[in-house]
Amino acid sequence: MNIGILALQGAFKEHKDILDKLEADSYEIRKKSDLKKRPDGLIIPGGESTVIGKLLNDLDMMEELKDMIENGIPVFGTCAGLILLAKKIENDKRIHLGCMNIEVQRNAYGRQLGSFVTEEEFQGIGKIPMVFIRAPYIKSTGNNVKILSEVKGKIIAAEEKNILVTAFHPELTKDTRVHKYFIEKITE
Ligand code: GLN
Repeated sequence: MNIGILALQGAFKEHKDILDKLEADSYEIRKKSDLKKRPDGLIIPGGESTVIGKLLNDLDMMEELKDMIENGIPVFGTCAGLILLAKKIENDKRIHLGCMNIEVQRNAYGRQLGSFVTEEEFQGIGKIPMVFIRAPYIKSTGNNVKILSEVKGKIIAAEEKNILVTAFHPELTKDTRVHKYFIEKITE
């Protein structure tokens, strides 16, 4: 198995460290030709969705990435990755990859709660630590979207077919279980 991690901006290295721990091979996707290396799954990391979105356009990678996801490659988006995958962003006119039937709110926790750490139930896994950094939450979900976790009454993890998203950063904790869950999605 080889997982491609989008490495244009943001916290991509931390995903690689977790995959290393789980003994799953991975490589960094930095340019269009890296998409052709036939990854078995993709990770879109946290960072700044506007910056990553702009780079995907500038590097002419947006359409190809979108096609791969629409053709069913398993993809895991964290935080900005979740925003990039959403079909609708409540407080932003931009749509980036627009593959997942969710409506999200960016920077949704205000100044005071801009960043926080908590522990909550994640469906199928149990209680896990969650790091939120200027995170979005999911305001509403379409028909086929399965809600996996909620914090403070807001949806913060969900799944739709091949797409898994979390508003928090599992890669910034020592807990490897969400990545393991994603790997299981690939091997299913
Ligand atoms: N606030 C960022 C955005 O809107 C997301 C933050 C993150 O990825 N930690 O893209």
